[in-house]
Amino acid sequence: MTDFPPGSVWLVGAGPGDAELLTRKAERLIGLATVMFYDALVGPDILEMAARSARLVHVGKRSGRHSKDQSTIDKLIVEAALSGEKVVRLKGGDPAIFGRATEELDACRAAGVGVQICPGVTAASAAAASLGASLTLRGLARKLTFVTAHARAGEDLKLNWSRLADPEATLAVYMGKAAAPEVSARLIEAGLPADTPVALVESASLPAERHFHTRLDLLPLAARTALGDGPALLLIGAAMARPEEVEGAVSEIAERFAR
Ligand code: SAH
Repeated sequence: MTDFPPGSVWLVGAGPGDAELLTRKAERLIGLATVMFYDALVGPDILEMAARSARLVHVGKRSGRHSKDQSTIDKLIVEAALSGEKVVRLKGGDPAIFGRATEELDACRAAGVGVQICPGVTAASAAAASLGASLTLRGLARKLTFVTAHARAGEDLKLNWSRLADPEATLAVYMGKAAAPEVSARLIEAGLPADTPVALVESASLPAERHFHTRLDLLPLAARTALGDGPALLLIGAAMARPEEVEGAVSEIAERFAR
């Protein structure tokens, strides 16, 4: 049974949006919290699982609109724990993937506050479910890379594009909507074929969920015209072809192995 003494902190993964994708552990911790600090991407039906007496504090960040900076969030969490609260820090997806978990873990540990992580379903898994597709594919995508394309204002992305341009990998690009033109141009420059399949998934697992298939050279256009305001993931690689195309590629590979 999960241990949640007063004065301790849990970093809890809220999953991609659909409340049914919460783990049972997450639901229990949310119900036990006396204070909960939550992100912008956590929906109301998940917040409703908190006790009526719990204090809910929005510390959300969406790119360009940082309502609280990271060190303020670290401080709030630690102060709440030191005053004897049961603290849940609720984060979208999995707390350990592009979730600034390290800063919060370090701040708690430095203050002598007990802190643990409850994992969540990450956006890439929800996006695959939305597409009805596998992120990995025998013979075609043996590697799955999670990368963030979020750069600080006015700075370049500073990614190692030649490493990312791997035709045998699926690339899951988090926070990549604004950077879609750069992602497309740099990957093609680094040798990835212009017709590499791309899937765009917006608001995976939520009622507003939408997904599109395109190709790497057309990605900027698709990102600009097809996506709305929801969080979106770019998935790049052979495994992301439309289902009938993946089927064709798989049987081709099967034939090759059979020969
Ligand atoms: N810790 C989170 C990621 C935080 S970064 C996780 O594990 O999923 C925020 C980015 O995640 C967004 O910019 C978007 O790229 C992606 N994202 C989060 N929720 C999403 C959703 N429901 N559908 C598509 N992408 C999502």
